[in-house]
Amino acid sequence: MKAARVARVGACAGVCASVVLGACGARPAPSVARGPSLSPTRYEIAIDPSLERLTETLCSEGPWTDRVVSIHEEARARLVTASIVRGGVERPLRVEGTDGPLAITTAGLAPSECVRLVLDVARAGGGMDGCLGRAGVVTCATSAWLVAAEPWRTSSRHRVTFTLPEGVAVSPIFGEDEGGTFLDERAFRYVGYVSFGDLVQHEITVPGGCAHVVAPARSEVASSPHLVPWVERASRASAALTGLSTARDVTISVLPVPMGSAAEPVLFGMAGRGTRPSVIALVAEPAVPTLETDWTLVHELVHLSVPYVPVEDAWLSEGIATYYQEILRARAGMQSAEEAWRALDRGVSRGAAEPARDTLREASRGMRESRAFTRVYWAGAAIVWMLDVVSRASGRESLDARIARLEARRDETMSADALIAALDDEDGTLRALVDRWLDEEEFPDLGDVYEALSLSHDANGELVLSLRNSLRESIVNDGRSAASNGRCSRVVLTSPACGSCSNL
Ligand SMILES: [Zn+2]
Repeated sequence: MKAARVARVGACAGVCASVVLGACGARPAPSVARGPSLSPTRYEIAIDPSLERLTETLCSEGPWTDRVVSIHEEARARLVTASIVRGGVERPLRVEGTDGPLAITTAGLAPSECVRLVLDVARAGGGMDGCLGRAGVVTCATSAWLVAAEPWRTSSRHRVTFTLPEGVAVSPIFGEDEGGTFLDERAFRYVGYVSFGDLVQHEITVPGGCAHVVAPARSEVASSPHLVPWVERASRASAALTGLSTARDVTISVLPVPMGSAAEPVLFGMAGRGTRPSVIALVAEPAVPTLETDWTLVHELVHLSVPYVPVEDAWLSEGIATYYQEILRARAGMQSAEEAWRALDRGVSRGAAEPARDTLREASRGMRESRAFTRVYWAGAAIVWMLDVVSRASGRESLDARIARLEARRDETMSADALIAALDDEDGTLRALVDRWLDEEEFPDLGDVYEALSLSHDANGELVLSLRNSLRESIVNDGRSAASNGRCSRVVLTSPACGSCSNL
């Protein structure tokens, strides 16, 4: 999600109000305990033709453990039935407790017996943890339905098959290997998004491989010539951060909404994680022709390029995504450098104008309740901007280079403290900068940053850019070639529609 969106939530009732409840950099699903499970689980997932009931059948490839647990409490509210299946006969299973994640006793089940849950995916509510139906498609967070045998083993690949009615497709949500579709422990650690229904699917070549975009076939956006270029541009732009596009295996579910204006083609975006990264984007149908101006998808892909930072430390995850959404689009030619600096200047001005009743650390922790999105996002972006400029000005590694070093750890969860430590030099330069502002009510002072970049304000408060500033140019030109060509020196065609880059 993005700070600018927040002010719009109240006016964007209905569909938006129901989803703008979560922070945007994906969320964890921490309810499932770690530990060795005895055997992998086979998943059979079905949905009825009306897209109202999802049936999830789990069969163990060995002895059952004691419980099957949902990855999130949202599944409990959606449970219709839970039963044991043996030889085609079903009998009820006991559901433990009345609140928290759904928990079902499976102790004593024979290996040949399966567990079957029927879940209501048409039920309203749950915000970003629930489901949303649009134009013959239902898009659900995995928090609404996914369960796991507890405890689970981190190395297992659990096989998944889908049984779908005629005319109903499913978006790629899990992994694929020679054995077919699988999910692994990442699906239990994070919330991701999946769409069922009458879908149009585009497989798009992006730096490093393929991105998948799905949209309701009965929507204008599905056949729009603007859809694929939008994903291609955002993928190239985000690839410049780490040198490898997170979009190479992402699935983007487009949810068209009949509102919005040309100035805001994407009303809301959210990054999901799991065995495969996913993004949902609420696209304003009247604004589809202006998708080229969108920054939301770059923002979400930046989230997925960085390790998961818990929501209580949103200042850092949102700060990184908010700062780079402007810088990366300038590098990719999606906006001019001047437009990027002006956008950052406007953003930090909005953030600084927000009333601060607590420190940035406290505001991050209470952001959902207080709805202090603008302050947290932009104070975070101000600190991230500071970290990048200080790194570059002192001749050290840019913040981009530091983030790129962590590319292989993007599926990890790291607190802001841990992430800053991983990005920092031995002398703790970045830590000291963060410590200076994190426990302050005052908005981070960017005076030194503006001076270093030869940025100032005139008497009317308008941003003034000096003619030349090498540091400023180094930021918006860093990785520009990667942004324009994805650093793809050789394209290997894996299918007629989709190639993959190598020799990155
Ligand atoms: Zn975000």
